[in-house]
Amino acid sequence: MPTANPAQPLSADDAEIRAALAEAHLPSLLPALAQLTGDMSLLRPEFRPNPAPLSAEEQGGMDPTQIEAARTAAFKAITGFREGGSKSAPPPDNTAVHQMVDFLTGGQSSEEYVPLLLEELAFPKEDARAPKWSKSDLAPASPFSVAIVGAGMSGILAAIRLKQAGVPFIIIEKNDGVGGTWFENTYPGARVDNPNHGYSYSFAQKPDWPFHFSPQGVLRDYFREVAENYGLLGDVYFQTEVTSAEWDEVRQLWEVHIRSASGKEETIEAQAVISAVGQLNRPKLPEIKGTGSFEGPSFHSARWDHGIDLHGKRVAVIGNGASASQFIPVVAEQAESLTIFQRTPNWYAPNPNYHAAVGEGLQWIFRHIPHAAQWYRFSLFWTSAEGILPMAKVEPGWDAGEVSVGAANDQLREMFTAYLDEQFSDRPDLQAKVIPRYPPASKRIVVDNGIWPATLKRPNVRLVTEPISELTPRGVRTVDGEEHSADVVIYGTGFHASKFLMPMKLVGRNGADLHAQWDGDARAYMGVTVPNFPNLFMLYGPNTNIVVNGSIVYFSECEVTYVLDCLRELFEGRHNAMDCRQEVHDAYNVRIDRGNLEMAWGVSKVNSWYKNEKGRVAQNWPFTLLEFWQQTKKVDPADYVFS
Ligand code: NAP
Repeated sequence: MPTANPAQPLSADDAEIRAALAEAHLPSLLPALAQLTGDMSLLRPEFRPNPAPLSAEEQGGMDPTQIEAARTAAFKAITGFREGGSKSAPPPDNTAVHQMVDFLTGGQSSEEYVPLLLEELAFPKEDARAPKWSKSDLAPASPFSVAIVGAGMSGILAAIRLKQAGVPFIIIEKNDGVGGTWFENTYPGARVDNPNHGYSYSFAQKPDWPFHFSPQGVLRDYFREVAENYGLLGDVYFQTEVTSAEWDEVRQLWEVHIRSASGKEETIEAQAVISAVGQLNRPKLPEIKGTGSFEGPSFHSARWDHGIDLHGKRVAVIGNGASASQFIPVVAEQAESLTIFQRTPNWYAPNPNYHAAVGEGLQWIFRHIPHAAQWYRFSLFWTSAEGILPMAKVEPGWDAGEVSVGAANDQLREMFTAYLDEQFSDRPDLQAKVIPRYPPASKRIVVDNGIWPATLKRPNVRLVTEPISELTPRGVRTVDGEEHSADVVIYGTGFHASKFLMPMKLVGRNGADLHAQWDGDARAYMGVTVPNFPNLFMLYGPNTNIVVNGSIVYFSECEVTYVLDCLRELFEGRHNAMDCRQEVHDAYNVRIDRGNLEMAWGVSKVNSWYKNEKGRVAQNWPFTLLEFWQQTKKVDPADYVFS
């Protein structure tokens, strides 16, 4: 995956550079150029952006005069770099990096971010998170292997790190290809709803993403290509499910029972298990009276039936979440009529880049200007995730009924309301149905570029907000008694997100059954380990999901760093196993629960997949992304009992 190569002198002529600069993202290019040339005057206050979180503003709040002046300064810096023989300045010190971060975030971040940035942005280009140890040095004689469950984004990542550390592993994958959610979700319109320059591995950045939010096939190919490049495909047992696993206390290993697609059952042994099954892979069908009685074809968004031609059909869609918001616009173009059953409206964050191709100019910058792609990635991290978190926070004493949880949250609500008001100004009938009455960030915010309003306004589309009473052989009946006839019913009704690790059965120490221990309320320490289950490590486990649209790849990278550090601890200490201390786990969860109760998704009464059957937020991480990185960098041996 080529990125800008500092070893290759820049030979572009002025016209080529000017053309690229016309499409450049200046707020992130200026720090990149400051790093490249050592000229900190590129960060002068008159160029300083003022990024409004989740804003559709493309140049981070810079006004047209600033933009022109910044472009001229960038041109001078690039041509100066070229004329000087493309010699990079020495790496910046921490003070300089802080100055760059401060510039990019409009003064909103602190120097605490510098160490994260140094690692995440990999200065100079290197895999800063690769393990710095190898099993052959620490414990050459120890028979130790790892079973990874799942070859999606997290499973591939874990395998890469284990391979780098020389720890033997196998991957067990239920599908016949890698990519997890990007392999399974083939519904029309599926694309990543988090910018893919951020939603990608820090060590496998791709300067040539075709879109800002690429379609499913591009993401699937990206993960497959990374797996291929690291030589992992031969280590995967495809079309094989883990049915159960038991900890053998005497032999200090896991017996992992697997079943192949042909029904063949086998048991494999591994000293550690890494579950990388994700939170969103078991489709959930709604519990509605009469489900199953519908006589036409029906399917879930994650099990799209491509054999059914929707052209000319009357289609009913139940649900309007992130998945349905992506496939509905495509289905609306094909169907004779489309009836959408909406239970709760979404907040939509406008983003003009949502379906836009990455321009040639921006791609040129990423290919030719060292550090530019990394700084762009950090700007996304800030404007689409970390910088927004305060807007989801509960402000003590705030009283805005049930529509916002604080002044900043209310500001977000007003911004999103203005967008919906404007988009539906010509359709007051729809306007009344689409504006949510709950705080933004209580549920997943959906990205939009105008396609959702345009779809709802189509003459063949009807938005029904009357609750569903039952499914009938001919369609869907609502509580007002109306039967909405349909030829096809599509469920965009989400996943069994809170049923972590289901349907696997896991039996740990002294016969402890993981699901019985959780009793419908999954918890973990760091989202990774659970008392009584030695050497079981979860990726994307309890309380590791993020609400305000940050990249879950970032979280997985943090978790895998932690898991690898656990293994290092085992090898260095000549231990067989480590088991999280109950009191450490419990105290951690008290803190997590308190944190979630200070966030919009924790206090809002609106229904969401962020709460489990006990009403507890078992999915989400309530603190900053920085804090998750800090806490997962290193294992504290005092948190575990070793054997
Ligand atoms: P979801 O957010 O859970 O949405 C499910 C939808 O079905 C909601 O509109 C829900 O209504 C509705 N629903 C469920 N049961 C119902 C019932 N009995 N009657 C009527 N309506 C019912 O699921 P999703 O859209 O698949 O998204 C899940 C998550 O996957 C997202 O939040 C996101 O994290 C991820 N995702 C990511 C991408 C991406 O990156 N491209 C795309 C899609 C999904 P209520 O709102 O009232 O519950």
